[in-house]
Amino acid sequence: MTKKCKVCSAPVIGRTDKKFCSIYCKSAYHNRVQSISNNFVRRTDAILKRNRRTLKKFLTLGIDRVSRQDLIANGFCFKHFTSKEKQMEKKVFFCYEFGYASCDAENYLLSHHSANRKDQLRKIEEKPLIYLENMKKRQGNA
Ligand SMILES: [Zn+2]
Repeated sequence: MTKKCKVCSAPVIGRTDKKFCSIYCKSAYHNRVQSISNNFVRRTDAILKRNRRTLKKFLTLGIDRVSRQDLIANGFCFKHFTSKEKQMEKKVFFCYEFGYASCDAENYLLSHHSANRKDQLRKIEEKPLIYLENMKKRQGNA
């Protein structure tokens, strides 16, 4: 019985372990496998980055306690995180440098990956102030 090419179904002639009719079909197959795996990585990266943006958004606004519903409404996906740590008997999940930990049945406490959390939060909160200062300066010059 002749084997069929995995790509184009043409008969495969030659060695018994050959899977493709030609070098073209072989490279087409491997390109397809590669692109499926690239797509998976791309999709996962997009979810993790969106999670990070959501956590950063709340923390930038000075909000560090949010409901599960608020996170979901902002596109948050609880299945994806970059690391997990135990801090004071609580499991803290991270999306890059931003973390979240369940504080009761419905709410999460958000944090920045830092030994000095207050200091980090202050830095995050300073950014919009710097932005507003610059806006004022620009309007003053106009
Ligand atoms: Zn083929």
